[in-house]
Amino acid sequence: MITITHSAGQYPIHFTSLTQALQSLPQDAVVLTDENVFTAWKGQLSQVPNVCRIEPGEGSKSFERYREVLSWMAKSGCSRRTTLVALGGGVIGDLGGFCAASYMRGIPFVQIPTTLLAQVDSSVGGKVGIDLPEGKNLVGAFYPPHAVHVPSEALSTLPDRQLRNGMAEVWKYGYILDAPLVDCLTRTDVRDDLQPIVQRCIQLKAEVVEADEFEKLGIRAKLNFGHTVGHAIEQVLRYEEFLHGEAIAIGMVVEARLGESMRITAPGTASVIEAQLKTAGLPTTWSGLQNPDPLIAAMRRDKKAHSGQLAFSLLTQIGECKLVENVAEGEVRSALLNS
Ligand code: NAD
Ligand code: ZN
Repeated sequence: MITITHSAGQYPIHFTSLTQALQSLPQDAVVLTDENVFTAWKGQLSQVPNVCRIEPGEGSKSFERYREVLSWMAKSGCSRRTTLVALGGGVIGDLGGFCAASYMRGIPFVQIPTTLLAQVDSSVGGKVGIDLPEGKNLVGAFYPPHAVHVPSEALSTLPDRQLRNGMAEVWKYGYILDAPLVDCLTRTDVRDDLQPIVQRCIQLKAEVVEADEFEKLGIRAKLNFGHTVGHAIEQVLRYEEFLHGEAIAIGMVVEARLGESMRITAPGTASVIEAQLKTAGLPTTWSGLQNPDPLIAAMRRDKKAHSGQLAFSLLTQIGECKLVENVAEGEVRSALLNS
Protein backbone atom coordinates (compact mmCIF):
# COMPACT_ATOMS: atom_id res chain seq x y z
CA MET A 1 0.00 0.00 0.00
CA ILE A 2 1.09 3.57 -0.69
CA THR A 3 -0.40 6.49 1.24
CA ILE A 4 -0.81 9.90 -0.35
CA THR A 5 -0.98 12.92 1.89
CA HIS A 6 -2.78 16.06 0.74
CA SER A 7 -3.98 19.29 2.32
CA ALA A 8 -7.30 17.82 3.44
CA GLY A 9 -6.06 14.39 4.59
CA GLN A 10 -4.69 11.16 3.18
CA TYR A 11 -5.73 8.34 0.92
CA PRO A 12 -4.46 4.80 0.45
CA ILE A 13 -3.52 3.16 -2.83
CA HIS A 14 -4.12 -0.60 -2.58
CA PHE A 15 -2.64 -3.12 -4.99
CA THR A 16 -5.28 -5.74 -5.26
CA SER A 17 -7.55 -7.79 -7.53
CA LEU A 18 -10.72 -6.49 -9.11
CA THR A 19 -12.85 -8.94 -7.12
CA GLN A 20 -11.27 -7.82 -3.86
CA ALA A 21 -11.58 -4.17 -4.78
CA LEU A 22 -15.29 -4.57 -5.54
CA GLN A 23 -15.85 -6.58 -2.36
CA SER A 24 -14.26 -3.86 -0.25
CA LEU A 25 -16.79 -1.22 -1.37
CA PRO A 26 -19.61 -0.04 0.88
CA GLN A 27 -22.94 -1.82 0.22
CA ASP A 28 -24.60 1.25 -1.25
CA ALA A 29 -21.70 2.31 -3.51
CA VAL A 30 -22.51 3.20 -7.10
CA VAL A 31 -20.11 2.31 -9.89
CA LEU A 32 -19.48 4.40 -12.99
CA THR A 33 -17.87 2.49 -15.84
CA ASP A 34 -17.82 2.34 -19.63
CA GLU A 35 -19.24 -0.28 -21.98
CA ASN A 36 -15.82 -1.77 -22.83
CA VAL A 37 -14.82 -2.26 -19.22
CA PHE A 38 -18.27 -3.61 -18.41
CA THR A 39 -18.11 -6.14 -21.24
CA ALA A 40 -14.57 -7.24 -20.30
CA TRP A 41 -15.36 -7.67 -16.59
CA LYS A 42 -19.04 -8.57 -16.67
CA GLY A 43 -18.61 -11.57 -14.37
CA GLN A 44 -17.13 -9.54 -11.52
CA LEU A 45 -19.53 -6.67 -12.06
CA SER A 46 -22.61 -8.83 -11.85
CA GLN A 47 -22.25 -8.73 -8.04
CA VAL A 48 -22.54 -4.93 -7.99
CA PRO A 49 -26.12 -3.65 -7.77
CA ASN A 50 -25.74 -0.05 -9.00
CA VAL A 51 -23.72 0.29 -12.18
CA CYS A 52 -23.93 3.24 -14.56
CA ARG A 53 -22.48 2.40 -17.98
CA ILE A 54 -21.53 5.08 -20.45
CA GLU A 55 -20.06 5.22 -23.95
CA PRO A 56 -16.31 4.69 -24.00
CA GLY A 57 -14.01 7.46 -25.20
CA GLU A 58 -12.95 11.03 -24.61
CA GLY A 59 -16.32 12.24 -25.93
CA SER A 60 -17.81 11.19 -22.60
CA LYS A 61 -15.84 13.83 -20.70
CA SER A 62 -18.61 16.23 -21.71
CA PHE A 63 -21.14 18.44 -19.93
CA GLU A 64 -23.91 16.33 -21.36
CA ARG A 65 -22.56 13.09 -19.91
CA TYR A 66 -21.72 14.86 -16.65
CA ARG A 67 -25.33 15.97 -16.33
CA GLU A 68 -26.61 12.52 -17.25
CA VAL A 69 -24.48 10.83 -14.60
CA LEU A 70 -25.59 13.33 -11.95
CA SER A 71 -29.24 12.76 -12.90
CA TRP A 72 -28.71 9.00 -12.76
CA MET A 73 -27.23 9.41 -9.27
CA ALA A 74 -30.16 11.51 -8.10
CA LYS A 75 -32.68 9.04 -9.55
CA SER A 76 -30.81 6.14 -7.94
CA GLY A 77 -31.25 7.81 -4.55
CA CYS A 78 -27.59 8.65 -3.95
CA SER A 79 -27.13 10.61 -0.75
CA ARG A 80 -24.29 12.67 0.64
CA ARG A 81 -22.83 9.47 2.05
CA THR A 82 -22.95 7.38 -1.11
CA THR A 83 -19.56 6.40 -2.51
CA LEU A 84 -19.07 6.93 -6.24
CA VAL A 85 -16.62 4.44 -7.72
CA ALA A 86 -14.89 5.19 -11.02
CA LEU A 87 -14.06 1.85 -12.63
CA GLY A 88 -12.26 2.44 -15.89
CA GLY A 89 -9.59 4.46 -17.64
CA GLY A 90 -8.76 8.12 -17.25
CA VAL A 91 -12.00 9.21 -18.91
CA ILE A 92 -14.12 7.47 -16.28
CA GLY A 93 -11.81 8.64 -13.48
CA ASP A 94 -11.90 12.28 -14.57
CA LEU A 95 -15.65 12.36 -15.24
CA GLY A 96 -16.54 10.28 -12.18
CA GLY A 97 -14.31 12.37 -9.95
CA PHE A 98 -15.92 15.59 -11.14
CA CYS A 99 -19.38 14.13 -10.53
CA ALA A 100 -18.30 13.07 -7.02
CA ALA A 101 -16.76 16.49 -6.36
CA SER A 102 -19.97 18.31 -7.22
CA TYR A 103 -22.86 15.98 -6.38
CA MET A 104 -24.35 17.39 -3.14
CA ARG A 105 -21.13 19.47 -2.86
CA GLY A 106 -18.93 16.41 -2.68
CA ILE A 107 -19.39 12.73 -1.86
CA PRO A 108 -16.87 9.95 -1.16
CA PHE A 109 -14.98 8.93 -4.29
CA VAL A 110 -13.03 5.75 -5.04
CA GLN A 111 -10.93 5.06 -8.13
CA ILE A 112 -10.42 1.59 -9.63
CA PRO A 113 -8.21 2.35 -12.65
CA THR A 114 -8.29 -0.26 -15.41
CA THR A 115 -5.91 1.17 -18.02
CA LEU A 116 -2.16 1.38 -17.54
CA LEU A 117 -2.36 5.13 -18.09
CA ALA A 118 -5.00 5.52 -15.40
CA GLN A 119 -3.07 3.30 -12.97
CA VAL A 120 0.24 5.15 -13.28
CA ASP A 121 -1.10 8.63 -13.85
CA SER A 122 -4.69 9.83 -13.82
CA SER A 123 -5.97 8.00 -10.72
CA VAL A 124 -3.30 9.61 -8.52
CA GLY A 125 -3.07 13.29 -7.74
CA GLY A 126 -6.65 14.41 -7.35
CA LYS A 127 -7.25 16.16 -10.65
CA VAL A 128 -10.73 15.55 -12.03
CA GLY A 129 -12.71 17.24 -14.76
CA ILE A 130 -14.33 17.34 -18.15
CA ASP A 131 -13.69 18.93 -21.54
CA LEU A 132 -15.33 21.85 -23.32
CA PRO A 133 -15.72 22.12 -27.08
CA GLU A 134 -13.13 24.92 -26.67
CA GLY A 135 -10.50 22.64 -25.16
CA LYS A 136 -9.63 19.61 -23.07
CA ASN A 137 -9.83 19.58 -19.27
CA LEU A 138 -11.06 23.18 -19.11
CA VAL A 139 -13.53 22.47 -16.30
CA GLY A 140 -12.57 20.58 -13.19
CA ALA A 141 -11.41 20.45 -9.62
CA PHE A 142 -8.78 19.11 -7.28
CA TYR A 143 -10.74 16.36 -5.57
CA PRO A 144 -8.61 13.63 -4.04
CA PRO A 145 -10.22 10.20 -3.93
CA HIS A 146 -10.91 8.49 -0.61
CA ALA A 147 -9.07 5.42 -1.89
CA VAL A 148 -7.56 3.97 -5.04
CA HIS A 149 -7.62 0.21 -5.73
CA VAL A 150 -5.23 -0.83 -8.49
CA PRO A 151 -6.35 -4.18 -9.94
CA SER A 152 -3.39 -5.65 -11.84
CA GLU A 153 -5.44 -8.26 -13.72
CA ALA A 154 -7.56 -5.54 -15.31
CA LEU A 155 -4.71 -4.89 -17.73
CA SER A 156 -5.09 -8.41 -19.19
CA THR A 157 -8.05 -7.29 -21.30
CA LEU A 158 -6.54 -3.98 -22.36
CA PRO A 159 -5.85 -3.74 -26.11
CA ASP A 160 -2.11 -3.73 -26.93
CA ARG A 161 -2.19 -0.20 -28.28
CA GLN A 162 -3.67 1.06 -25.01
CA LEU A 163 -0.98 -0.78 -23.07
CA ARG A 164 1.79 0.81 -25.16
CA ASN A 165 0.03 4.15 -24.68
CA GLY A 166 0.36 3.79 -20.91
CA MET A 167 3.96 2.63 -21.28
CA ALA A 168 4.85 6.04 -22.73
CA GLU A 169 4.02 7.58 -19.33
CA VAL A 170 6.02 4.83 -17.61
CA TRP A 171 9.10 5.67 -19.71
CA LYS A 172 8.47 9.33 -18.89
CA TYR A 173 8.69 8.67 -15.14
CA GLY A 174 12.01 6.93 -15.71
CA TYR A 175 13.37 9.73 -17.89
CA ILE A 176 12.45 12.53 -15.50
CA LEU A 177 13.00 10.93 -12.11
CA ASP A 178 14.40 7.41 -12.11
CA ALA A 179 17.30 6.17 -14.25
CA PRO A 180 17.19 2.67 -12.67
CA LEU A 181 13.57 2.39 -13.87
CA VAL A 182 14.76 3.11 -17.42
CA ASP A 183 17.40 0.37 -17.05
CA CYS A 184 14.75 -2.02 -15.82
CA LEU A 185 12.49 -1.20 -18.77
CA THR A 186 15.29 -1.87 -21.25
CA ARG A 187 16.38 -5.14 -19.61
CA THR A 188 13.13 -7.01 -19.19
CA ASP A 189 9.89 -7.70 -20.98
CA VAL A 190 7.89 -5.65 -18.55
CA ARG A 191 4.60 -7.12 -19.70
CA ASP A 192 5.50 -10.29 -17.80
CA ASP A 193 5.05 -8.46 -14.53
CA LEU A 194 3.87 -4.91 -14.69
CA GLN A 195 2.82 -4.60 -11.08
CA PRO A 196 6.18 -3.56 -9.56
CA ILE A 197 6.56 -1.01 -12.34
CA VAL A 198 3.07 0.39 -11.76
CA GLN A 199 3.88 0.67 -8.05
CA ARG A 200 7.14 2.45 -8.74
CA CYS A 201 5.45 4.97 -11.05
CA ILE A 202 2.71 5.67 -8.50
CA GLN A 203 5.36 6.17 -5.82
CA LEU A 204 7.15 8.67 -8.05
CA LYS A 205 3.96 10.53 -8.90
CA ALA A 206 2.96 10.53 -5.22
CA GLU A 207 6.20 12.25 -4.24
CA VAL A 208 5.74 14.92 -6.88
CA VAL A 209 2.08 15.68 -6.15
CA GLU A 210 2.68 15.73 -2.42
CA ALA A 211 5.35 18.37 -2.96
CA ASP A 212 3.10 20.52 -5.19
CA GLU A 213 -0.52 19.48 -4.72
CA PHE A 214 -2.10 22.40 -6.56
CA GLU A 215 0.47 22.69 -9.35
CA LYS A 216 1.70 26.09 -8.20
CA LEU A 217 5.38 25.57 -7.43
CA GLY A 218 6.68 24.30 -10.76
CA ILE A 219 7.40 20.89 -9.22
CA ARG A 220 4.34 19.13 -10.62
CA ALA A 221 5.11 20.75 -13.97
CA LYS A 222 8.14 18.47 -14.21
CA LEU A 223 5.75 15.62 -14.97
CA ASN A 224 5.12 17.41 -18.23
CA PHE A 225 8.27 16.22 -19.99
CA GLY A 226 7.24 15.52 -23.60
CA HIS A 227 3.86 17.10 -22.96
CA THR A 228 4.37 20.66 -24.26
CA VAL A 229 5.05 19.24 -27.71
CA GLY A 230 2.77 16.22 -27.19
CA HIS A 231 -0.26 18.32 -26.27
CA ALA A 232 0.43 20.62 -29.23
CA ILE A 233 0.47 17.60 -31.58
CA GLU A 234 -2.79 16.33 -30.08
CA GLN A 235 -4.43 19.75 -30.52
CA VAL A 236 -3.26 20.24 -34.08
CA LEU A 237 -4.59 16.77 -34.94
CA ARG A 238 -7.81 17.40 -32.99
CA TYR A 239 -7.06 14.36 -30.82
CA GLU A 240 -7.60 12.05 -33.75
CA GLU A 241 -4.48 10.35 -35.09
CA PHE A 242 -2.45 9.64 -31.96
CA LEU A 243 -3.37 8.49 -28.49
CA HIS A 244 -2.00 10.71 -25.72
CA GLY A 245 0.95 8.42 -24.93
CA GLU A 246 1.88 8.23 -28.60
CA ALA A 247 1.87 12.02 -28.93
CA ILE A 248 4.04 12.44 -25.83
CA ALA A 249 6.47 9.77 -27.09
CA ILE A 250 7.09 12.01 -30.11
CA GLY A 251 7.14 14.98 -27.72
CA MET A 252 9.80 13.39 -25.51
CA VAL A 253 12.13 12.89 -28.47
CA VAL A 254 11.63 16.47 -29.68
CA GLU A 255 12.06 17.92 -26.18
CA ALA A 256 15.21 15.84 -25.56
CA ARG A 257 16.59 17.25 -28.80
CA LEU A 258 15.57 20.76 -27.70
CA GLY A 259 17.32 20.24 -24.36
CA GLU A 260 20.46 19.05 -26.10
CA SER A 261 20.59 22.05 -28.41
CA MET A 262 20.11 24.36 -25.39
CA ARG A 263 22.96 22.50 -23.61
CA ILE A 264 20.63 21.54 -20.80
CA THR A 265 20.33 17.85 -21.71
CA ALA A 266 23.39 15.59 -21.91
CA PRO A 267 24.46 15.03 -25.55
CA GLY A 268 23.21 11.76 -27.06
CA THR A 269 20.14 11.53 -24.82
CA ALA A 270 17.63 12.15 -27.61
CA SER A 271 18.92 9.25 -29.75
CA VAL A 272 18.83 6.90 -26.76
CA ILE A 273 15.24 7.88 -25.98
CA GLU A 274 14.24 7.62 -29.62
CA ALA A 275 15.63 4.07 -29.89
CA GLN A 276 14.01 2.97 -26.61
CA LEU A 277 10.58 4.30 -27.49
CA LYS A 278 10.76 2.80 -30.97
CA THR A 279 11.54 -0.59 -29.46
CA ALA A 280 8.56 -0.11 -27.15
CA GLY A 281 6.35 0.19 -30.25
CA LEU A 282 5.72 3.91 -29.87
CA PRO A 283 5.93 6.55 -32.62
CA THR A 284 8.95 8.85 -32.35
CA THR A 285 8.33 11.27 -35.18
CA TRP A 286 5.50 12.69 -37.28
CA SER A 287 5.50 14.45 -40.64
CA GLY A 288 3.59 17.43 -39.16
CA LEU A 289 6.69 18.46 -37.16
CA GLN A 290 7.92 19.95 -40.42
CA ASN A 291 5.18 22.57 -40.14
CA PRO A 292 6.13 24.17 -36.80
CA ASP A 293 3.88 27.28 -36.77
CA PRO A 294 0.59 25.70 -35.64
CA LEU A 295 2.46 23.59 -33.09
CA ILE A 296 4.26 26.61 -31.62
CA ALA A 297 0.98 28.54 -31.49
CA ALA A 298 -0.55 25.65 -29.51
CA MET A 299 2.50 25.55 -27.17
CA ARG A 300 2.00 29.23 -26.35
CA ARG A 301 -1.42 28.28 -24.95
CA ASP A 302 0.09 25.50 -22.78
CA LYS A 303 -0.69 25.82 -19.06
CA LYS A 304 3.04 26.19 -18.26
CA ALA A 305 3.35 29.12 -20.69
CA HIS A 306 2.95 32.38 -18.75
CA SER A 307 2.02 35.31 -21.03
CA GLY A 308 2.62 33.08 -24.05
CA GLN A 309 6.29 32.40 -23.19
CA LEU A 310 7.28 28.84 -24.10
CA ALA A 311 8.05 26.55 -21.17
CA PHE A 312 9.26 22.95 -21.01
CA SER A 313 10.18 20.28 -18.54
CA LEU A 314 13.62 19.36 -19.90
CA LEU A 315 15.95 16.54 -18.96
CA THR A 316 19.38 17.33 -17.65
CA GLN A 317 20.22 13.65 -18.10
CA ILE A 318 18.22 10.43 -18.03
CA GLY A 319 16.58 10.34 -14.60
CA GLU A 320 16.65 14.10 -13.92
CA CYS A 321 14.74 17.10 -15.20
CA LYS A 322 13.92 20.74 -14.54
CA LEU A 323 11.34 23.27 -15.59
CA VAL A 324 12.76 25.73 -18.14
CA GLU A 325 10.80 28.88 -18.94
CA ASN A 326 11.14 31.55 -21.63
CA VAL A 327 12.57 29.20 -24.22
CA ALA A 328 13.34 30.96 -27.49
CA GLU A 329 10.98 30.13 -30.33
CA GLY A 330 13.90 29.58 -32.74
CA GLU A 331 15.23 26.76 -30.54
CA VAL A 332 11.84 25.07 -30.52
CA ARG A 333 11.45 25.46 -34.25
CA SER A 334 14.85 23.82 -34.92
CA ALA A 335 14.09 20.95 -32.56
CA LEU A 336 10.80 20.30 -34.39
CA LEU A 337 12.39 20.52 -37.82
CA ASN A 338 15.24 18.18 -36.79
CA SER A 339 12.96 15.49 -35.38
P1 NAD B 1 -9.84 5.81 -21.63
O1 NAD B 1 -10.44 5.97 -20.31
O2 NAD B 1 -10.57 6.36 -22.80
O3 NAD B 1 -9.53 4.27 -21.87
C1 NAD B 1 -8.95 3.85 -23.08
C2 NAD B 1 -9.78 2.73 -23.75
O4 NAD B 1 -9.57 1.52 -23.04
C3 NAD B 1 -11.28 2.99 -23.73
O5 NAD B 1 -11.81 2.54 -24.95
C4 NAD B 1 -11.77 2.11 -22.59
O6 NAD B 1 -13.11 1.71 -22.77
C5 NAD B 1 -10.84 0.93 -22.68
N1 NAD B 1 -10.58 0.19 -21.46
C6 NAD B 1 -10.34 0.68 -20.22
N2 NAD B 1 -9.99 -0.30 -19.38
C7 NAD B 1 -10.05 -1.44 -20.09
C8 NAD B 1 -9.78 -2.80 -19.77
N3 NAD B 1 -9.34 -3.16 -18.56
N4 NAD B 1 -9.98 -3.73 -20.73
C9 NAD B 1 -10.39 -3.36 -21.97
N5 NAD B 1 -10.61 -2.11 -22.35
C10 NAD B 1 -10.44 -1.15 -21.41
O7 NAD B 1 -8.39 6.47 -21.72
P2 NAD B 1 -7.12 6.52 -20.74
O8 NAD B 1 -5.96 6.49 -21.63
O9 NAD B 1 -7.21 5.56 -19.63
O10 NAD B 1 -7.26 7.98 -20.08
C11 NAD B 1 -7.23 9.15 -20.86
C12 NAD B 1 -7.91 10.26 -20.12
O11 NAD B 1 -7.21 10.46 -18.88
C13 NAD B 1 -7.87 11.59 -20.84
O12 NAD B 1 -9.15 12.17 -20.79
C14 NAD B 1 -6.90 12.44 -20.03
O13 NAD B 1 -7.21 13.80 -20.07
C15 NAD B 1 -7.08 11.86 -18.67
N6 NAD B 1 -5.93 12.06 -17.77
C16 NAD B 1 -6.16 12.61 -16.56
C17 NAD B 1 -5.10 12.79 -15.68
C18 NAD B 1 -5.38 13.36 -14.32
O14 NAD B 1 -4.44 13.66 -13.58
N7 NAD B 1 -6.63 13.48 -13.93
C19 NAD B 1 -3.79 12.43 -16.04
C20 NAD B 1 -3.60 11.86 -17.28
C21 NAD B 1 -4.67 11.67 -18.16
ZN1 ZN C 1 0.42 12.49 -19.94
